[in-house]
Amino acid sequence: MFLIGQGMDAHRFAPDRPLVLGGVRIPDEPGLRAHSDGDVVIHALCDALLGAATLGDIGRHFPDSDARYRHIDSRVLLRQTMEKLRARKLRVQNADLTIIAQKPKLSPYFEAMRSILAQDLSCPPNRVNLKATTTEGMGFTGRKEGIAALAVVLLREVSQNDFP
Ligand code: MG
Repeated sequence: MFLIGQGMDAHRFAPDRPLVLGGVRIPDEPGLRAHSDGDVVIHALCDALLGAATLGDIGRHFPDSDARYRHIDSRVLLRQTMEKLRARKLRVQNADLTIIAQKPKLSPYFEAMRSILAQDLSCPPNRVNLKATTTEGMGFTGRKEGIAALAVVLLREVSQNDFP
């Protein structure tokens, strides 16, 4: 059985914070304001995973009212999300991610993001796709107020036998 999920997130720039996207630190760029490290890519991905598994959303599992998640590395949230999916015998078939940002140029970081995310998703790197687009100056991303991310994932249910 296959299950599909989608996720979306957006955060406002916060110049005093480091920029982390897809688990990769992007040097010399303003970061994003958030309770956690502000990794919109991982947040969108977690929402897509939880959506596909019919487990609600990231805010339900990791509420920003909870001090445990303050400034947390979003990879920790991704790994905890994957634990919830593994408990339901769900594995990632593929993930397709789109980052919406007027700047910076992100393609030089895609390979690093892909390798990190594949590791946390327990899938081969060639099942994780990253894309980036501007909005040609339109809207909040175009005005450089923040960065948004979209994620789509496909999960498959595995039998007890082929589960590691
Ligand atoms: Mg978020």
